[in-house]
Amino acid sequence: MTENIILSPVPDLSDLASSAVWSVRYRDPSGFDCQLSLESASGVEVLQRAQAALAKLSESGCTPIQISSATNGNTKAESVMCPIHNVPMRQYQKNGRSWYAHRLEDGNWCRGKAHDNR
Ligand SMILES: [Zn+2]
Repeated sequence: MTENIILSPVPDLSDLASSAVWSVRYRDPSGFDCQLSLESASGVEVLQRAQAALAKLSESGCTPIQISSATNGNTKAESVMCPIHNVPMRQYQKNGRSWYAHRLEDGNWCRGKAHDNR
């Protein structure tokens, strides 16, 4: 068996090269939420196909789904996410100060900082 590790002299895209998957969620003209996934051997190729797919989608009247605003009943544009728990945080105000926090399942508060509750 020969090991085929020797790389070609051209810039290598091996970090993109193992199967690349691209997916998009969109709403089609009749109102259905759809998901389209493209898979390709290289990231460059899948992005080219993605571009073509997006052009085709907007051509046929499909619109992108904005997940952040759609799932939230609040129409507030900005939502701050907790970097630890990846959940939306609420803004609280007291004594002229404001901060973001969310409640944990055990009843403690998290302000999005790792050492806050220790
Ligand atoms: Zn948190």
